Amino acid sequence: MSNTHHTLLIVGGGAAGVSVANNMRRQNSAIDIALIEPSEKHYYQPGFTIVGGGAYTLKETVRNEADLIHPSVTWIKDFAESFQPDNNTVTLRSGDTISYDYLVVCPGLQLDWDKISGLKETVGKNNVCSNYSAETVEYTWECIKNLESGTALFTQPPMPIKCAGAPQKIMYLAADRFRKKGILDKFTIEFCNASPSMFGVPFFAKALSKVVADYGIKANFNTNLVAIDGPAKIATFEVTDSDGNKQQVNKSFDMIHVTPPQSAPDFIKESPLANAAGWVDVNEKTLQHNKYSNIFGLGDAAATSNAKTAAAIRKQVPVVVDNILALINSKAVEEGYDGYGSCPLTTSLSTVMLAEFSYGGKVTPSFPLLDPRKNRWIWWWGKTTGFPWLYWHLMIKGYRIDIPHLECYAKRFMKEE
Ligand SMILES: Cc1cc2nc3c(=O)[nH]c(=O)nc-3n(C[C@H](O)[C@H](O)[C@H](O)COP(=O)(O)OP(=O)(O)OC[C@H]3O[C@@H](n4cnc5c(N)ncnc54)[C@H](O)[C@@H]3O)c2cc1C
Repeated sequence: MSNTHHTLLIVGGGAAGVSVANNMRRQNSAIDIALIEPSEKHYYQPGFTIVGGGAYTLKETVRNEADLIHPSVTWIKDFAESFQPDNNTVTLRSGDTISYDYLVVCPGLQLDWDKISGLKETVGKNNVCSNYSAETVEYTWECIKNLESGTALFTQPPMPIKCAGAPQKIMYLAADRFRKKGILDKFTIEFCNASPSMFGVPFFAKALSKVVADYGIKANFNTNLVAIDGPAKIATFEVTDSDGNKQQVNKSFDMIHVTPPQSAPDFIKESPLANAAGWVDVNEKTLQHNKYSNIFGLGDAAATSNAKTAAAIRKQVPVVVDNILALINSKAVEEGYDGYGSCPLTTSLSTVMLAEFSYGGKVTPSFPLLDPRKNRWIWWWGKTTGFPWLYWHLMIKGYRIDIPHLECYAKRFMKEE
């Protein structure tokens, strides 16, 4: 067992961790940075939706982690296992301990496949698919491609999940595939959503209801998947009525796309860094830990109430980096993050509705004059070409892309509602 020290230690080398490391390196060429990340592969997860929809390949979503981390950053290829914030140390699975001056915690979230009885045994076969994992996403496209008729179910678990729009995005891609093959009328498509509405931001929820109606999809709300029998092709839902009464309902399916329940990683839940719900307990605007001032958290693991997206991370990274530099220079941290997140909703195989919003459900587009509820080809181009390029070549490399996102751009369209 050994003990080493780094000025800045980062836990998790996904979208947030690599961006923080490389962004800090661009701001300060001398600071000693180390990154704890066990995986040799780094996935662009926003691409999983279009892999499942047959418009992208899994290969296009993956890079070697080694090629992304700046060579001057020490890569510790291991799992962080526990935190000792009073001693400024992190213990690794190997037993080694790393000490730090500043810690950034961003290990993403955990997919709780086990919370749905029977799911783990059947996902990836029996026409049970999920875009939420690199292991299962290609099977989604196989199911959609091969099915000619029947019942297709798409589920959404209780919030929070990463990319809250993803459970329905794949449904529209599937419906559009069926339409293009001339077989849409041979399908019954149902959205089985544990939430009470189509989307958390009412402005976009209304627009999405029209998309659902256009495909003839039936949307069920307060309908939460609790069990699945793959070989028998039966899914069991707990349905809550308006009086709060619950009953179990079985639905047969020919294919089902499941979004698994999600929560903070267990090692975070069990740590002194967690809030009551298990997430890294940080201030919503500064991203500084509420108890330990030399610790910051961002990305999917953070307790902030923004949409858990890579788009949010683009805005969070400069805040974390600047606030650590402020502390190093004995200055005060700043409230730089406004809860921005974005969800490019793939409403067909050639259109996207670009939902951008901030804390409190404020609609905050980056582009003036364009009605954000419109399904546009230009955002489809963004989803398949522009946004992945921005991710790999700007955000991950540590460049700052500060396109202002303003509520006033959306005001005009809200009046027109
Ligand atoms: C199907 C799908 C569609 C999506 N669509 C979009 C979209 O359209 N737009 C968008 O902006 N976002 C989208 N997202 C969400 C986006 O991918 C995530 O919000 C983003 O990747 C979160 O980044 P992160 O760094 O917090 O976590 P991750 O990128 O998941 O990285 C976490 C890293 O931490 C590592 N780690 C885990 N445990 C430990 C440990 N114990 N010690 C050290 N390291 C550890 C993991 O190996 C991983 O590399 C989508 C996600 C999915 C699954």
